[in-house]
Amino acid sequence: SKFSIEGENEEAFKVFVRVRPLMPRERCTEGRKNNGSIVKVIEESKNCSKLYLSDPDMVYDYVGRRERGYEFDTIFGQRDSNETVFKNTVEPLLPSILEGYNATCFAYGMTGSGKTHTMLGTSTTLDSIKYVNTAEKGLCLQTVEKLFQLMQETRNKQFAIKISYLEIYNEQVRDLLEDKQTQLMIVEDPVRGVFVPELREIEVSHPSELIELITDGNRRRTMASTSANQFSSRSHAILQISVQTSESTLGMGNQVFYSKLSLIDLAGSERAASTSNRGQRMVEGANINRSLLALGNCINILSDKNKTGSFVPYRDSKLTRLLKDSLGGNTKTCMIACISPSYFCYEESTNTLKYAERAR
Ligand code: ADP
Ligand code: MG
Repeated sequence: SKFSIEGENEEAFKVFVRVRPLMPRERCTEGRKNNGSIVKVIEESKNCSKLYLSDPDMVYDYVGRRERGYEFDTIFGQRDSNETVFKNTVEPLLPSILEGYNATCFAYGMTGSGKTHTMLGTSTTLDSIKYVNTAEKGLCLQTVEKLFQLMQETRNKQFAIKISYLEIYNEQVRDLLEDKQTQLMIVEDPVRGVFVPELREIEVSHPSELIELITDGNRRRTMASTSANQFSSRSHAILQISVQTSESTLGMGNQVFYSKLSLIDLAGSERAASTSNRGQRMVEGANINRSLLALGNCINILSDKNKTGSFVPYRDSKLTRLLKDSLGGNTKTCMIACISPSYFCYEESTNTLKYAERAR
């Protein structure tokens, strides 16, 4: 279920899996092998890895297996750093950004699976993303650094970069670069495509400015405690990097084009039903799932060659409406499905791998 952009042999949609390390609090030695890690990754070839998830409480399933295998192009294991993840996911997309393509990268997974670590870096006490070493810079920062480097190396073209950072919380769009928290509208324009008119866009001329912006934005990000995880983030955070490229072509004057790179830390994918949440949290859960479900449906259609030309239900959620021109079309997309190796997370990891498999 892969398709390619015309004239290129490269897939426009890629799915990766990342297994984060087992945390000390997840270690369980009593009667469990491997301290309670139930994930096994086997690299079969350069572009094919298999992940085996063993069901901790089932001896054999109906066809005599104890574990279920999942196949992906690339699976990042417990020892792979953010740098390795970056080099294999977003970095290869960057040259095409400067050629006018759009690119989108999602981190998907249950709360605690490593999405924020992947996108923003080591810490969830977000101030310290400033102080982490190279290997644990998040994808957002590595992306901007690399983008600036590529721009410097490119002759005969001028670039301008603008950043916006928003969250979708409970099907409401909010600007993370703005103190006043009003609900923003998503507008579709025949010329500009999908955009949020009131969203702040800030021009950056050095990667360090990005760190400030993201750190500020994260302070505004909705954090609500749930019984699943006290610091769980219940919102989708979307960092968009708009690149304006001007190229002077002989005899044709100055050509200008725009491209957009979206880096997305999705809200936890755990089901409202699987936690003991009630009331407000329950409504939230439903809305989070609505966006994730809609995203899954869109991706499923877009990544399936046999469904080319089919109706894509972008309008089913705020997330997919907003990403209408950042999914499919001339966009290269990658999804990083994050899982914990712990047997405590078996159910959610299964859900995540199935979601990822469906998108593949
Ligand atoms: P999420 O954003 O999906 O809820 P986090 O990124 O906050 O999850 O990760 C949960 C915890 O696991 C955090 O303490 C984080 O520092 C840690 N963690 C996640 N991924 C890794 C990794 N690859 N290496 C080391 N620690 C990680
Ligand atoms: Mg998070």
